[in-house]
This record gives sequence, C-alpha cells and structure tokens, in this order.
Amino acid sequence: MEEKSTLKRCNTQMLKIHEVRPVWRTLPPLTYEVKKANIKAMLLTGTYLLQEHIQRFTGNTEEQKCQLCQIEKEDMVHFTLRCPALNEQRQKVLPELKQQIVNSIGQNKWHEHFMGNKELLLQAIIDCTKLEMNILNINQKSAIEIEKISRKLCYDLHVTRTLLHLQLVITGQNVAKSPGCK
Ligand SMILES: [Zn+2]
Repeated sequence: MEEKSTLKRCNTQMLKIHEVRPVWRTLPPLTYEVKKANIKAMLLTGTYLLQEHIQRFTGNTEEQKCQLCQIEKEDMVHFTLRCPALNEQRQKVLPELKQQIVNSIGQNKWHEHFMGNKELLLQAIIDCTKLEMNILNINQKSAIEIEKISRKLCYDLHVTRTLLHLQLVITGQNVAKSPGCK
C-alpha cells in the first residue's frame, strides 16, 4: 500500500478495517457535506482527474497544461494552491486554513516548515493526519478543524473548476484572463 503513488499523500496507517478516516468521521449527515467529502476522498486517493492524468492516457504533453490558465502543468499543487483562475475561491478559504494551522503549531513552526513549502501545505490540505506523525504534532481537535476547512476548500475549488471548464467549452475563452481572475 505504501508503494502506491496515488496514495502518497494519504496516511495509509489509518486504512485499517474498522478505522474511520477523518474525512468521513468529521462529517455531519447532510448531502452537501457528503458531496464535499466525496471530492476530498477522490483527491486523497489520487482518483480526481486533472490534466496531468489525462495527458498520461493520451500521451500528448500539451494536454497536461491547465486548461483554465494555460500557464503550467495541472497537477495537485497547481489545482489546489497555484492556479490563478481559482484564486478568488481559494482566497475565501485558504487564510482560514492557514490560521488554523498556525493556531495548532504556532507561528514559529509555521514559518520554519510551511513558508515556501507548497508540498507540505498540500499535505495538510489532503491529509493532515500524515503530518501528525511528523514533528509538527498536530493534536486530534486541530486535525478535525483542518480537515473540515480543507474539505470546503477542495469542494469550492472543484465547483469553480467545473464551471470554468464548462464556460471554456461554451465560449472557447480562456477564463484566467477574464476580469476578476488574478
Ligand atoms: Zn491553472
């Protein structure tokens, strides 16, 4: 299990029988919350389809570029933390997530570990329990809060991405250059 690349950000120690992952455990019984958890679970298991994956099927390297901004390869870091077309949605949730992490680990550790380290921030978003095992030592309560916020972040990004893709198909316009997208 540890070897599987699509699970590299998933804390596989928790994939035991009878062990309910935080992505499901912290879930209120509402359809909207289930939708959010579904997207999160796809990102967690590497089954959320990005251009990076599509390119692997087609072999066309041009296709790995993000269709929304055309700036670089659309991988997990680009989708979650970099794509300028999704910046507006991202900025509505990401500051809250950062604040929650800072509250958990303190300002010093935030600067030491997370500043300029998008991979680590992505890990916190996708599965913060994998950070727990490291030196950061995020407690259970904080991990649940981080999970809730990151679930919202991932879902909002997914909805916006889907709508922008649709808009792209209909109008043929590059949405990242539209007003309001930085
Ligand atoms: Zn992009």
